[in-house]
Amino acid sequence: MPEVTVQQVHDLTDRIRGFDLVATNGTSLPPAEPGAHIKLTVTDTAGQSVKRSYSIINPGEPDLYRIAVLREEGGEGGSMYMHQKVKTGDVLEIDLPQNDFPLVESAAKTILIAGGIGITPILAMATALQQAGKDFVLHYASRNHTDMALMTEVLDAANGRCALYFDGGDTSRSMPLSSILGTAEAGKHVYVCGPGGLIDAVLDTARRNRWASENVHYERFTTPAAQLDDTSFEVHLAQSGQTFEVPVGKSVLDVLIDEGIDPLYDCKKGNCGICTSVVISHDGDLSHRDAYLSDSQKAQNDQMCICVSRMQSSGRLTLDL
Ligand SMILES: Cc1cc2nc3c(=O)[nH]c(=O)nc-3n(C[C@H](O)[C@H](O)[C@H](O)COP(=O)(O)OP(=O)(O)OC[C@H]3O[C@@H](n4cnc5c(N)ncnc54)[C@H](O)[C@@H]3O)c2cc1C
Repeated sequence: MPEVTVQQVHDLTDRIRGFDLVATNGTSLPPAEPGAHIKLTVTDTAGQSVKRSYSIINPGEPDLYRIAVLREEGGEGGSMYMHQKVKTGDVLEIDLPQNDFPLVESAAKTILIAGGIGITPILAMATALQQAGKDFVLHYASRNHTDMALMTEVLDAANGRCALYFDGGDTSRSMPLSSILGTAEAGKHVYVCGPGGLIDAVLDTARRNRWASENVHYERFTTPAAQLDDTSFEVHLAQSGQTFEVPVGKSVLDVLIDEGIDPLYDCKKGNCGICTSVVISHDGDLSHRDAYLSDSQKAQNDQMCICVSRMQSSGRLTLDL
């Protein structure tokens, strides 16, 4: 696993800290594309080594990965570790850059939407689009001025094509999404990253404005929220003949991991598609909550991302596992 050295740590806001990472021993870092992230190995509150993903803000710059980390008090401690323990000169293990949120550089027009810490991949995209001379606009919302990280960099990258919103915490309400998205056009693409409410609002608006799902791109930093009508159901694995109960609040993937099965997975947020499994049968409706499958793939109900998607009623889901 490659190692990086923390070259500089700087506070971007009260809760967001920036880290500049360079290759340890002066070797070079692999290049990354806009939208890409690295995984850092950190220590959680239980003292276990865990991996946490952070988007690369400056993918065009050689041999330097800039990341920004929001301190999440309610989590397992990965971000607290970054804030409380990691300092200049420390050496961290990383996984090489991976991109589950790639930019369609050939788009005629691009709309970038960010809320809060979701600005990290969106800023990388704005920088790339500006350098390529492409038509784009960036909408960036934050609670208030002091919570808005990387504002100067955003204004520079967007170069006049940027709208800022200060919303006291409800990013999905502050933006006039219907007029921002406008009508669907073949060459028009939208990218959104930020709180789940903002992502869901953009997806709803795009659906209402009849956008093609292929032109709507999003990345979730957190697992999609459980829904009030979630219910437990059975998952049956056709290859091994095993059956397990999937309770409310737990994903199919987590149940399989707990049962000692070794399914393929990576992000656990519905972004990467690695856990996509073939659905053989399902007694009830499937609730697809991933960003990986297209709307037409989801409508066929013959595959699902088992890290986030589930059956929306009790009954049996049979997977080709
Ligand atoms: C592709 C990608 C890119 C990312 N880029 C960035 C970035 O640039 N900057 C950044 O700060 N973060 C980024 N993240 C998020 C980051 O990887 C970590 O998840 C984040 O730092 C929090 O880690 P943690 O261990 O502190 O908290 P976690 O344990 O991961 O928890 C995160 C949040 O989820 C909530 N939560 C945890 N478990 C549950 C649960 N079971 N039910 C409901 N809520 C729960 C917690 O309250 C907390 O607010 C990215 C994530 C992905 C997938």
